[in-house]
Amino acid sequence: MSETAQKETLGFQTEVKQLLHLMIHSLYSNKEIFLRELISNASDACDKLRFEAVSNDGLYEGDNELNIHISYDKVAKTLTLRDNGIGMSRQEVIDNIGTIAKSGTRQFLDSLTGEQASDANMIGQFGVGFYACFIVADKVSLTTRRAGESEAVRWESAGEGDFTLESVEKDSRGTEIVLHLRDGEEEYLDGWRLKNIIHKYSDHITFPIMMPIEAPVGESDEEETLVGDEQVNKASALWTRGKNDISDEEYNEFYKHVAHDFEDPLVHLHARVEGKHEYTSLLYVPQRAPYNLYDREHPQGIKLYVKRVFIMDDADNLMPSYLRFIRGVIDSSDLPLNVSREILQSNKVIDSMRSGSVKKVLDMLDKLAKDEPEKYTTFWQQFGKVMKEGPAEDMTNRDRIAKLLRFASTHKDTDEQVVALDDYISRMQEGQEKIYYITADSFNAAKNSPHLEVLRKKGIEVLLLTDRVDEWLMSSLPEFDGKPLVSVTKGELDLGELEDEEEKKQHEAIDKDFEALVGKVKEILGDKVKDVRLTHRLTNSPSCLVVDSGDMSANLERLLKEAGHDTAGSKPIFEMNPEHPLVVKLNAMDASERFDDWTHLLFEQALLAEGGQLDDPASFVARLNAMLLELSA
Ligand code: ADP
Repeated sequence: MSETAQKETLGFQTEVKQLLHLMIHSLYSNKEIFLRELISNASDACDKLRFEAVSNDGLYEGDNELNIHISYDKVAKTLTLRDNGIGMSRQEVIDNIGTIAKSGTRQFLDSLTGEQASDANMIGQFGVGFYACFIVADKVSLTTRRAGESEAVRWESAGEGDFTLESVEKDSRGTEIVLHLRDGEEEYLDGWRLKNIIHKYSDHITFPIMMPIEAPVGESDEEETLVGDEQVNKASALWTRGKNDISDEEYNEFYKHVAHDFEDPLVHLHARVEGKHEYTSLLYVPQRAPYNLYDREHPQGIKLYVKRVFIMDDADNLMPSYLRFIRGVIDSSDLPLNVSREILQSNKVIDSMRSGSVKKVLDMLDKLAKDEPEKYTTFWQQFGKVMKEGPAEDMTNRDRIAKLLRFASTHKDTDEQVVALDDYISRMQEGQEKIYYITADSFNAAKNSPHLEVLRKKGIEVLLLTDRVDEWLMSSLPEFDGKPLVSVTKGELDLGELEDEEEKKQHEAIDKDFEALVGKVKEILGDKVKDVRLTHRLTNSPSCLVVDSGDMSANLERLLKEAGHDTAGSKPIFEMNPEHPLVVKLNAMDASERFDDWTHLLFEQALLAEGGQLDDPASFVARLNAMLLELSA
């Protein structure tokens, strides 16, 4: 296109309009961050250019001193940012600045409450990026030319419904953004103020950030005389510096840059690994789970660098899926600069950096749990469900991950997940060999389950598992520290040493009188059950259902059904408590009385008690009412 190109007006995507509106209204208390966002983008653009130029030197167009330049004009009330990074083509401008391509944007916007403080946090976490300039500007003009291309394009908008695009001339590649500041935002037309903001947020940026040197005031009141540029930031890659040289603030600001987050991270780890493979990693755990943590498309948060040259965002081979919330950079000294995503799929260097980093992350979490339990609690609330995917995904580190797991248990009686498997073991009873747990679809269903009765009586702790992922977790965690983990709703409850001989003998004696009853009940329940037997696991309840040790738990079956899976449905085993008066009464009944109804009722209430659904609720109600009527007659 040439001079004939018309200025075209395009509408913002609805989501952008909404986001702009929200942002301007919820981020006003921390306006200065707009500068950090723009510098962060400019730095990314320089990173991208440097990477593409590895295989195509021509992209430098003779200028390989990458930098970011910031200047202002007090009279025109404009602030200008310029970078000589990769720039954008016309289509890229349309795609990047005018639309939000992130998956889950709709749900994100719907989740906002309208409450300013919390929305501000949410928006920060979503990443407002470029649009932040509208917090302080009522008109923004962005002119850009992609490296190696001839067409330049100018994008302009007042941050309301639409933007314009036109083709323009631009000699230098890269992007220039002119902010026309709103009335009242004159503070950003002050070199000292701008430098302060840059120091605060952007010191870690790897490329020089340049600003005009101002002549000392006094020589002329109105116009400052410019005598060249000066570099405002340190411009060395933060992770290459020694730990002792880096302040917490610097670590935190760097995190915000790489993670596109507004909040400080919870904890970080910075390690230089030498030996067979050399690399540096600077990894962070965010304070809050991102809104799209469960999206399949969710990008991984590690940036890969090779010898300080940025290679790619979201390098998904550097962290396993259960650590997908980790953010940061890994910088390799061994990979070639021209690596592609394909090469990374199966690469020894990557594998070794990955396994090394995973171990370091697990160590960091372990240390956090020991040294800063409050922070660990926050971590677990935010990321516990994801960590629970770990043992299934990462067999090598299963035991280390298991140490980090936290559960609710009968010891605490709150649904907060704070009990570690080690804590559980330290509280095990004399003679207890197993770790007991129950899975259910709610905390109350788990806590009040009849299956816990005898364990409670004996003072044995039971883990109460109610997250969906728990079934999956338990199927891949058969033991911890040599102790098997067993479900109290599966198979015969074998209390091993905990059962004393005396008790056993008593039970056997009682059971003798009920042998005939078991047969009769089995006949009546027919194919509803796999088996009928007597139990001593109950103290208050007359009956309960268990599944055979090899079968799928009732809870898992429910979850699968909810998810639309056709489960063959394993039949439960019906267990009766021969010490319960109702069962004693049933045993004394003859068939002419309501023996059938009693049997069905005991079965149905056992099903209800564990959160199951009745096949034929109407018959249940009819039966119950008939018996109530008899009672009141
Ligand atoms: P984010 O940086 O979180 O992706 P932004 O809204 O800040 O979101 O930017 C959207 C996209 O626009 C960036 O991902 C990048 O591709 C492009 N972009 C923004 N600023 C620049 C720039 N200065 N140079 C080149 N591309 C840019």
